[in-house]
Amino acid sequence: MSDLDRRRDFHAQAVSEVLSALNTTQAGLSLAEVTKRRAEHGPNRLPEPPRRSGLVRFLLQFHNILIYVLLASAGVTALLQHWIDTGVILAVVIGNAVIGYLQEGRAEEAMNAIRGMLAPHSAVLRDGTRRSVDAADLVPGDIVLFEAGDRVPADVRLVEARGVRVEEAVLTGESVPVDKSTELVRPDAALGDRSSMLFSGTLIAAGAGRGIVVQTGSNTEIGKISGMLASVETLTTPLVHQMDIFARWLTLFILLVAFLLLVYGYFVSGFEFEELFMMVVGLSVAAIPEGLPAVLTITLAVGVQAMAKRNAIVRRLPAIETLGSVSVICSDKTGTLTRNEMNVAELVTAEHMYAVSGSGYQPEGSVANATGEMSPQLHSILGDFALVAGLCNDAGLHQSENGWHVEGDPMEGALKALAGKITGAGADPHSGVWARINAIPFDAAHRYMAVLHEDQAGQRRIDVKGAPEAILALCTTQRLTDGKDVPLEHDYWSGKVEELAANGQRVLALAACHAPEDKDDLVHADLDGRLSLIGLVGLIDPPREEAIEAVAECHSAGIRVKMITGDHAATARAIAAMIGLKNTEKVLTGLDIDMLDDGALAIAAVETDVFARTSPAHKLRLVTALQSRGLTVAMTGDGVNDAPALKRADAGIAMGQKGSEAAKEAAELVLADDNFASIAAAVREGRTVYDNIQKVISWTLPTNAGEAMTIVVALLAGLALPVTAVQILWVNLVTAITLGLALAFEPSETGTMHRPPRRRDEPLLTSGLVWRIAFISTLFLIAVFGIYFYALDKGHPVQLAQTMAMNTLVVLEIFNLFFIRNMYGTSLTWEAVRGTKVIWICVISVTLAQFAITYLPFMQAVFGTQSVPLLDGVLIVAVGMTFFALVETEKQMRLAFQTRAKA
Ligand code: ATP
Repeated sequence: MSDLDRRRDFHAQAVSEVLSALNTTQAGLSLAEVTKRRAEHGPNRLPEPPRRSGLVRFLLQFHNILIYVLLASAGVTALLQHWIDTGVILAVVIGNAVIGYLQEGRAEEAMNAIRGMLAPHSAVLRDGTRRSVDAADLVPGDIVLFEAGDRVPADVRLVEARGVRVEEAVLTGESVPVDKSTELVRPDAALGDRSSMLFSGTLIAAGAGRGIVVQTGSNTEIGKISGMLASVETLTTPLVHQMDIFARWLTLFILLVAFLLLVYGYFVSGFEFEELFMMVVGLSVAAIPEGLPAVLTITLAVGVQAMAKRNAIVRRLPAIETLGSVSVICSDKTGTLTRNEMNVAELVTAEHMYAVSGSGYQPEGSVANATGEMSPQLHSILGDFALVAGLCNDAGLHQSENGWHVEGDPMEGALKALAGKITGAGADPHSGVWARINAIPFDAAHRYMAVLHEDQAGQRRIDVKGAPEAILALCTTQRLTDGKDVPLEHDYWSGKVEELAANGQRVLALAACHAPEDKDDLVHADLDGRLSLIGLVGLIDPPREEAIEAVAECHSAGIRVKMITGDHAATARAIAAMIGLKNTEKVLTGLDIDMLDDGALAIAAVETDVFARTSPAHKLRLVTALQSRGLTVAMTGDGVNDAPALKRADAGIAMGQKGSEAAKEAAELVLADDNFASIAAAVREGRTVYDNIQKVISWTLPTNAGEAMTIVVALLAGLALPVTAVQILWVNLVTAITLGLALAFEPSETGTMHRPPRRRDEPLLTSGLVWRIAFISTLFLIAVFGIYFYALDKGHPVQLAQTMAMNTLVVLEIFNLFFIRNMYGTSLTWEAVRGTKVIWICVISVTLAQFAITYLPFMQAVFGTQSVPLLDGVLIVAVGMTFFALVETEKQMRLAFQTRAKA
């Protein structure tokens, strides 16, 4: 066997051999060694998929039927030697491509940065202490800790495995999770049979354990398979895709109309072919919304960035649309609505209640009952509390300049601090005395955790903590103040649980028993009926201030907020009331849900706002039940078992900090700060993006239709064009890349969160939108022809009349932009007039361009324009204002009518 093979053969080597081969220990590497190895092995990252080159990306901007038509027009005008028209059309095409290219680049960068925010973390032992590091920082020889829901960060040889099952489909194609253990495997075993190894990229479906990192980055098994690398997500959503298809059909339709007009104009109206042809080219260019696809993509990209700024990371783009139509948010309690900063407030024993003082996670403070401060010397039961709280615990407390911090579960951190407060012996009072032999990790199905420990004298004990109902069911005795065990008084404890929970405290029960000296394994059956109850611990986890505001905001936006928690019903009710949920009287528990059939659950789920003692399976049923009532459901989750509910929900939302990789991968949205307020912010952004998509369409389509109809009407009526073909091309050039783009950057309208949610199946082209397109394009037509005839009537030459008509067109487009910015409110406020920076940059650029084409002699020569006299200029602006007044009045009438209809 060659050296290299031997290095690859870790599955067939004993743990001790692997440790020495990699020059490491069970306590992990030292920090200095890690730095050295990182320099040698590089980051633990798979090579990036090759990116498309800049040139390819630029050329792809032209790959679009809308652009093909424009290019063909440019070709024909060049053949006819209409160089100016060719130039302007090419400028439209190139301007469009440059903007598309730049914006797409920015969007891709933003998406990459967002993906970076989701970089997985890994728990690792270094210098004997547990820390959480970026998975890219792992080096061969590191000892990693893992649990259900984690994505395996590197190739790992198992050192300890408790009930570990792994989904290896990405690597082996096998969809059923496989069991893993620390046992050696034959050297020639196939990848799928190497049960002593975990492979990078696979998912821990159950269990927990630890292992040695043996390969990192591209040396891992997955790194060796090329083509498995993440593909680049295209920036699109169903609506935008739909719009893309619409734009293509529209182009075809326009070409058809253009052809018919060509035939009609030539044979019926008797136009000269070349002139007619140029008019038809102008028509096509004017009518085709060539900028629309790019602007919609930009709108999405802006939305994704805005959400990321508010800590909501979009993993799948269609989520942006769904978020805007969410009508129910089902949220976890702990950490999302509450701060997940736990603090033990009270202890309850069979004979006393103790108040616990001290701040944060500092393991110092006092424990007192009604008669004064107490210690384990006075009340031996406090020593038991300290033992169970300190031993049945996987968290660590660290002190830094800013105080004490938890590594691991905050609730366990609070229990560690409690052990310190009782014993007065710091953050780890039992280390060195008790060694862990075995454990049953916490899982949501059993709702408790158990550990088996041995002291230096060889005595063994089992300590258990968990939800009171679960623990009480395992106990037969309860412990008195002096350490004596007497029979359990079930009713007493149930009463105390309710009492603590009614104050919003999370209640845990602690229990313990002795174990035989030869006991090594630990299973659920070892606990049943053997435990003695030490007492209850009441923990405070205050609600997040911002969550209270966000819940109120959701309510005003017509969104129902429901809390689905694993916690006790009374705790859930108390917290729900503090948060401001609507119906806190009625709480449905997991047991209640089990008793209801789907039909009854659908009704109950709509009425109830608080669900307690639920398991992930209940979440799935609740989502389905709410959806069956036509609601669009956002659901949060963090555990590995939450994945089905997250996938099923219309918008699955995972917690970025405490969430498992499995949950994050199943979700559409990940919250960087686990905060409910970020969900509300994401909904607001989702609504804004949808509004902006509608605004972009409402501006683009009537503008194009207005321009096109001007030509069509002139052709059909056999009139001279009020705006020449080349001028139409010019207008298209300057407005499409300025005004059209501005709406993609619109901020949320004031009332965005005071409106009820949009129906999920609402079509993009609503009757309202179609009406607006017709109304506005007709007004355009009247205004342009009106000014044209007015000018001729006044005795102006045709060129001047055309120049005025063209300027009218642009002024109308600007006023239309200001009108469309406020779809749901009035445009007659100072804020509406003030606009945004982007809007004003666009308006000023267009105005300067219009002054140039109107007054610069060289441009006049090229475009056949003439200087517009001041008074006529004022008239044009007045026409724009009249247009604005008309459309605004129409909108206000419609809004008033809608409000009345609703009332
Ligand atoms: P949510 O985040 O949905 O509000 P939760 O954190 O309250 O849920 P779970 O994590 O499912 O819900 O916990 C359910 C119950 O299990 C808790 O109320 C607590 O009694 C118990 N529990 C939670 N974590 C542990 C743990 N590490 N060890 C022992 N028991 C635990």
